[in-house]
This record gives sequence, structure tokens and C-alpha cells, in this order.
Amino acid sequence: MSVNKKDICSYSFEQLAEEMEKLGEKPFRAKQIYEWLHVRLADDFDEMTNLSKNLRGRLDERYEIRKVEVLKRLRSKADATEKFLFELCDGNVVESVWMKYPYGNSVCISSQAGCRMGCRFCASAIGGRIRDLTPSEMLRQVYRIQKLTGERVSNLVVMGTGEPLDNYDNFLAFIHMITDPRGLNISQRSVTASTCGIVPNMRRLANEKLQITLALSLHGATQEKRERLMPIAGKYKLQEVLEACDYYFEKTGRRVTFEYSLIQGVNDTEEDLRELTEIMRKRNGHLNLIPVNPVEERNYRKPGRKNALEFKNKLEKNGINVTIRRERGADINGACGQLRRSYVTVKKGEGDEDICDDRRRKKT
Ligand code: SAH
Repeated sequence: MSVNKKDICSYSFEQLAEEMEKLGEKPFRAKQIYEWLHVRLADDFDEMTNLSKNLRGRLDERYEIRKVEVLKRLRSKADATEKFLFELCDGNVVESVWMKYPYGNSVCISSQAGCRMGCRFCASAIGGRIRDLTPSEMLRQVYRIQKLTGERVSNLVVMGTGEPLDNYDNFLAFIHMITDPRGLNISQRSVTASTCGIVPNMRRLANEKLQITLALSLHGATQEKRERLMPIAGKYKLQEVLEACDYYFEKTGRRVTFEYSLIQGVNDTEEDLRELTEIMRKRNGHLNLIPVNPVEERNYRKPGRKNALEFKNKLEKNGINVTIRRERGADINGACGQLRRSYVTVKKGEGDEDICDDRRRKKT
């Protein structure tokens, strides 16, 4: 990375047009360059063959297309899921997941390198936050995957490492650009962003006039339970968080998704069921149960299949709109910061061995 060069892929169309004007270029150049970056997914100025060599050279002097390079690409044997570990320009690593569904291809991206929210069951929280990702680094996770798979990405979830609403401006710029008809043009309704519940930014997002789906990481149905699992709950009380969800629905007409990681003996009791029913009954949302993915460093276990199903069925009987999230890519560390975690652990402590080797990982 050059400190002087600007990250050209982070400019919105309007910002790029301004930059080109400053360089004394005609407005249509911005259109051409934007298309190269965000439709043709160029990785280098040299690919932009309808620009003069001179202009390509001048672009290269001032700007860079920040690299998001594949360190690992893992294919699940169990289902059509692939996991990507990307290296950023400063050596940080982030992970993304590609999932093929009958309705299209979905990508899950990371919004920060690391995370400072500290949720107790989450692998991404362990090393803390290193830095925010730029819009370009979020975009280029999707671009890289689309290029490598050769298939159009139609759906997007911001549920990888990081808290998008803790990186609000970059996240918002990213959403505008990934859904821009002049770019990849993913429909806003096919985008879901997940938050641990940063209330002021949930309200801000509600006012942005977007049509994306908001997912709230609920995980506890009382203030006390939630606080035990998520430090952020101490700052924003459950009641406020739920009101912010209601506000999001009111402003956008989009139903909020509530995510609830089921943890054996912690939040799957009859009392939890009652409280959860109470919360969901009052609102027009969807509840997604995620049997917790065990993280080596954490002591949480998922309930057995039967118990999870029973929990779900009881909620359904109570009239709640609920699903259990199907686990995908478990054999490739498909879930929640686990691949990055295993990479960082191996890299830090034990030399350069294959991170896919489970025996090796258990030792670390
Ligand atoms: N920071 C955002 C998005 C990232 S995590 C948020 O908190 O929502 C995406 C989802 O995975 C969140 O609901 C998160 O709580 C959940 N999650 C994290 N670790 C998990 C684990 N080990 N098992 C199950 N779900 C987990």
C-alpha cells in the first residue's frame, strides 16, 4: 500500500466524477472508470483498455485499486459453500463466505478486521478490533468472489467479522455502491446487515431510506441474559434496542430479522422461551435460531438437534414466525470468524501449517 495513493474503488460515482474533473478529464471518463471498477471488476489500471496509456499512467500515480487477495479458498464437501480468506493491503486478513442457493448466490462479507463488541460466544471478538474496512475492501470481497466463481452474486449479508454499525460511514457508502445500478446492482431487498444493537446507528440507518433488511443479534430475551452474553447490552438496554427495531420497521416497512444463537443451558430454557415469545409476539419480525457454533476458546455448546427442534416447535405453537438456520460449510469453518481465527492463531504461534488440518487446529 502506498500512503499517498488514494483508494479509488471507495469513491462513489459522484466523487469519482469530481476527481476526474480535478484531473481535467471529461465527465464520460468517470463513467468509463466506474464501469471498469464496479462492473467489469478490474484489478489493475492496465486492464482499462479504452483509456489512453497516458491517462492510465496518471491514474496509477495518484490512485490504487486496493488489493483483496485470496489467501485460502476452501470448498465444503457437504454443500455448495465456499469460504475465502482474504489478505488486505496491510497484511490484515478477513473472511467471506459464498453460498449457492436455488434462488441465487449469496455472499457474506466482513466489515472490520476483528471486532470490539466482545460477544462471549463469538470467535471474531477474541483478538479485538484491528481496524475498520474501507468501502472498497467490502466491495472487493464480493467482486473477488464473483470473479473467481464466475457466477453473479445476487444476495449479500453483512454478517462476517466486525460490527457494520461500528463502521457506519464506510458501511453506508458500501451499501450505496453495491446496490448502485451503475455498479454490481444488487437489489437492496437482497441485502441483510446484522447488528449487535448499536441503537443510535440503528435509528440513523432507519432514516437513510434504504430497503435493506436489518438483522438484530438478540441472543438473550431479558436484559440480564443478554448482558451476560453481549457486553454491548450493558450500554444499550434491551428495551431501547427493541424500540429501535420497531422504528426501523416503521420507517422502512422492512421486517426485522431477530437472530438468536441457541446455547445449551444458557438461553434455551422454558423461561427463555416465554420471554422470547413475549418479545416476538409484539412485533412483525422473523426469528432465526442458530445453534451456537462452538468456538475452541469458549465454553458454549449447542443444544442437541432434538432440543433445538423442540424449542422451535414450541415457539411456532406460540404463533412465532421462526426458522432454524441450516448450518452450512461446517467442515470448512463456515461460521462466524472461525476461519480467520484459526489462521491468526496458527500464524501467530505455530508456523505455517495447513489450517484445514483439524488435528493441527485442536492442538493450538
Ligand atoms: N456484529 C454483527 C454481525 C456479525 S456476526 C452482529 O453482531 O450481528 C453475525 C451473527 O453471527 C450474529 O448474530 C452473531 O451474534 C452470530 N454469531 C457469532 N458467533 C457465533 C457463534 N459462535 N455461533 C452462532 N452464532 C454466532
